[in-house]
Amino acid sequence: MNSSTYPKSHLVIAALLVLFLLSFVGTRYNDGGERFNSRDVLQSVASHPPVTTSGTPPSPENADSQTLPEQVVQPVAPEPELRIKAVTVKPGDSLAIIFKREGFSPRQLHSLVTSEPLGPRLKDIFPGHELVFASNGAGDLVSFEYSPGPLETLVFTRNGKNFDSRELVAQPSRSIAYRNGRIDHSLFVASQRAGLDDALTMRLAQIFQWDIDFVLDIRKGDEFFVLYEDLYLGDEFIGHGRILAAEFVNQDERFQAVYFENDDHGDYYAPDGASMRKAFLRAPLEFSRISSNFNLRRKHPIWKRTMPHRGIDYVAPQNTPILAAGDGKVEKASRTEANGNFVILRHGEQFTTKYLHMSKFARGVRMGRSVEQGQVIGYVGSTGWATAPHLHYEFLVDGVHHNPRTVKLPNATPVPAAHRSAFDSSSTRLLTTLEQYKNQIDLALGQ
Ligand SMILES: [Zn+2]
Repeated sequence: MNSSTYPKSHLVIAALLVLFLLSFVGTRYNDGGERFNSRDVLQSVASHPPVTTSGTPPSPENADSQTLPEQVVQPVAPEPELRIKAVTVKPGDSLAIIFKREGFSPRQLHSLVTSEPLGPRLKDIFPGHELVFASNGAGDLVSFEYSPGPLETLVFTRNGKNFDSRELVAQPSRSIAYRNGRIDHSLFVASQRAGLDDALTMRLAQIFQWDIDFVLDIRKGDEFFVLYEDLYLGDEFIGHGRILAAEFVNQDERFQAVYFENDDHGDYYAPDGASMRKAFLRAPLEFSRISSNFNLRRKHPIWKRTMPHRGIDYVAPQNTPILAAGDGKVEKASRTEANGNFVILRHGEQFTTKYLHMSKFARGVRMGRSVEQGQVIGYVGSTGWATAPHLHYEFLVDGVHHNPRTVKLPNATPVPAAHRSAFDSSSTRLLTTLEQYKNQIDLALGQ
């Protein structure tokens, strides 16, 4: 190795060590959350190429605190002073503003954001994200870290005029959590009382959105039981992981779902192995806290058989997003006096769905365009013959109106045969665990 590179590599070693020490200390006093753990930073030290004065680069796999090369911790010659600073992105900030505030030149910012492969991701900074700068005595940026989330850190290290970049992903530990609730007023009220946050409640509803109409069909007395993961980094709770198993009792009908991963793809299945995903969503409306509460306060619209009204009316706040019930093509996106702004979707040979009285269409929804299930196609309004904002929804099979709640639909794709036995044992284990939790709660309540 060229001896002239030695001082430089020492500088980087020192920079990264100081960075590690300071950021480690920093996380103790930062209640905003530990953005990366010490092991990741040690990996970042150990796997950085200039560290390898011996000539053999340690691989990131074995470079943890135990196998850190010895020369890294040996005392080195006096080092130039390093400046380390952690910055939390504030509302209204951009990288340009932050770099100026911290005294770094636009040129350094440019070489950072144009560094491959991760530089472009620096365009996505949001308030609350954390940035860590390490600069040398000359004011040059030596390394830069950006944490887009609690588990992920992008590390940029200077390499001549440019920066090398790498992504560190911390593996959280997972623990199983259980919650259950009974609905009095709305799903969200019940789940909050049960200790579920709204995001998890939304995910719970999404698992069952092909079977249950969460806008119209939720009733007092409905119940849910959820087994899910809590994620921790060290002792710190950092968020909810996946829902592993769930049960929803809607108007005395019981639905169960279990999470199953095969070929790196995870999804939810019924205990018999059928996918929870089906050709059509139950409710072609974005389900939210607002719309659900909104509907529960009202008399529920019903399936009306009398002519000429042959659809379901979803009373919902103005501009609630309307979703394509299934994959299909836009047959019409137009306006008439009676329908107002309306969209007709064709789903293969047999099925057609209609959406009336929209306030406006979603961007790009035009005749001939393909849409995916769940895609926003427009917004609830009261155009045409409508006295209040609502979505009038029709479902046709071979051109004849049907009740989407009772029509026989194509079967969902089941677990692939090759994964069937793995699914069966995983599903049994999860549902048994769910059952045990349910029984424990019953015991605790003396039931
Ligand atoms: Zn109607």
